[in-house]
Amino acid sequence: MDTGVSRRSAAGLLSPRSVAVIGASEDLTKFGGRTFKSLVDHGYKGSIYPINPKRDSLRGIKAYPSIGAAPAPVDMVVMAVPRDAVKAAVQECGEAGAKAAIVITAKFSDAGPEGAALEREIVEVANAHSMRIIGPNCLGIISPANDLVLCASPALFVDSMPKGEIGLVSQSGALMATIFDRAMARGIGFSHCFSIGNQADMDLCDFVDYLIDDDRTKVICSYIEGLKDPARFMETARRAHAAGKPWLAVKAGRTSHGAAAAFSHTASVAGSYEAFSAACRECGVLTMDDTDAMILLAQGIGKFPQARPDTVAIVTTSGGGGAITADRLTDLGIPLARFEPETAESLRRLYPDNVAGTNPIDMGSAKEGGSMVVGSDTLGAVLRDPSTDIILSAITTAPDVRLLCEKYIEGTRAAEADGHTKPHIIVMQPGHAGDAARDLLRREGAVYTDSLDDAIRVIEAWRRMAGLKMRPAPVRGPGVPAGLDAAVPSGALDEAGTKALLAGYGIPINRGEFAKGPDDALAAAQRLTGPFVVKVVSKDIVHKSDVGGVVLDLDSAEAVSAAVATMAKTIAEKLPDAAIDGFLVQEMRSGKAELLIGGRNDPQFGPIVVVGAGGVLVELLHDVAVARAPVSSAEARAMIESLQVAKLMKGYRGAPPLDIEAASDALMRASWLLADLGDRFLELDINPLLVGEVGKGCVAVDGRMLLADA
Ligand code: ADP
Ligand code: MG
Repeated sequence: MDTGVSRRSAAGLLSPRSVAVIGASEDLTKFGGRTFKSLVDHGYKGSIYPINPKRDSLRGIKAYPSIGAAPAPVDMVVMAVPRDAVKAAVQECGEAGAKAAIVITAKFSDAGPEGAALEREIVEVANAHSMRIIGPNCLGIISPANDLVLCASPALFVDSMPKGEIGLVSQSGALMATIFDRAMARGIGFSHCFSIGNQADMDLCDFVDYLIDDDRTKVICSYIEGLKDPARFMETARRAHAAGKPWLAVKAGRTSHGAAAAFSHTASVAGSYEAFSAACRECGVLTMDDTDAMILLAQGIGKFPQARPDTVAIVTTSGGGGAITADRLTDLGIPLARFEPETAESLRRLYPDNVAGTNPIDMGSAKEGGSMVVGSDTLGAVLRDPSTDIILSAITTAPDVRLLCEKYIEGTRAAEADGHTKPHIIVMQPGHAGDAARDLLRREGAVYTDSLDDAIRVIEAWRRMAGLKMRPAPVRGPGVPAGLDAAVPSGALDEAGTKALLAGYGIPINRGEFAKGPDDALAAAQRLTGPFVVKVVSKDIVHKSDVGGVVLDLDSAEAVSAAVATMAKTIAEKLPDAAIDGFLVQEMRSGKAELLIGGRNDPQFGPIVVVGAGGVLVELLHDVAVARAPVSSAEARAMIESLQVAKLMKGYRGAPPLDIEAASDALMRASWLLADLGDRFLELDINPLLVGEVGKGCVAVDGRMLLADA
């Protein structure tokens, strides 16, 4: 929507010089009471205008009967008036010259079409006065960097808010308050936390834009439910990346896959979350699945902005704790560091020869003293080890974990003084026995958590961050047509119709002919080269082999003819209502692996292309790679190489390697077909693509496609 207010000025609204609280009071059971208290208590430096017709002053600050009565136009207003009063209140604020209004009130577009209509009216009223709306259905903002709180959450009833370098944008208000509160309990502060609610007017990107330009913000965290403008999301992400600000995102709805799964396998393995995360990979947004881990990583990145960790050293107070940690990392394919000889040498002074230099390091096995004695030097040794990128300390309930943490701090200071800095995540596993240590770590600003899970999530995501590169515009591979020339059919295409489109884009298909019945089939087989395959052709049959509609490995034209006759009879018996159009007689091909290449048109991110292992088993194996179409040859290859099955395809245990090159080429070509079809494209399954040994190529032996009407 063109609001007449530029994007950047929308972001500019987030450092207001004056704020008004509509319905301000001293009653802490009320929204306006809590918001006003926190606003005053946290020392906002701008002008504050409490709006309350019944009071002359509140908490010693002059109150006004209406927003229009305030002595000057207000930059930002916050309101939690009843739903039916919102429009009039917004109108009044607009007329009084307010620049932005935070609407806390809910039950707008979050509650159905009638609420959505009212929400649109409110935005129109606001924009008509050049005022912007934050929310509705949000919980306001907490901006420690601006000493500004416009949020009623009791989490703000604290003496002071820690300030930090993390900016948070959350679609959920409750989650914003929770994230803020939990982080505060760990000593982690924010520059700004914005809850954005229904994004009726200002959307996620307005807030991220502000954080990108804000010097006090080093890392951007977000909790996302839905995007209003996917293209702008990607553009904003590229801007964040260019500004050197990592952007982390937790998105809800990872598991609700497309309901269209009935038509294609693809839709059931590549839902909207996969499209979202493919888009994120393209533009450098790091996706995570947990908000605690996201904040912990943001803290780590803030402290160690240059770190791109790969290998992990585990330091522990217990052999068991170390072993479990090592197992968990190994499960995820995260490599443990192999210490350099000098590191092993210095550890030998502390540990018996048989364990010195092994990873995990169990401080309990020290020659003398235990962790409180060796903690400092042990940590110092791994901080200096050139082959270690990140340290994970698993601290169990040990005699004095507070003292151990002091030793850690000592060891870290000494190593850092020598120029050895690297991320160190401490997992505090004790119960109350760890509380004193936790206090210390909090005060030191150490990266710590009580949860091994979170620490491992952080390491997994931090390693992924290193691979986030801006995706260059994909190039059309050699031989891919410049676009579709012939008229494109519409509706559900059968195998032959699909293959015709595939062949047009240079994807190898097997030869075949349509036959009405046994006699036709005999003649068709005589024109083709055996062995043969017979398949039923019917709009009513989706998965042919499920109903005996595929017969493989027929070695003569006579056998083909007989197979058609039998198939016609058995299918008519099994599915009396299915209209059989005829049969496909085709050449049988061999392959050493079956892949699925597919695609669907994501309502937000456009055509996405999918490759997966196992053909019909793709849902079972769930070994898939997803990207937005089109992809370049190199990207297609990287997608295939990211699959588990690629290990097999590369020649596992003496088996001959398969033609990954040819499969990548087919994937690249399919992706261009989807991209060129654009809005016309709905779904594709090439299932399977048979892949032969190196040099033997690949071939699509089945295909289905769904196209929209022109
Ligand atoms: P559907 O998926 O509708 O059941 P397909 O045409 O994919 O039917 O055939 C089922 C299976 O038969 C395929 O997954 C593949 O393993 C095998 N197949 C089909 N056509 C051929 C062919 N021309 N050459 C070799 N194998 C084939
Ligand atoms: Mg098939």
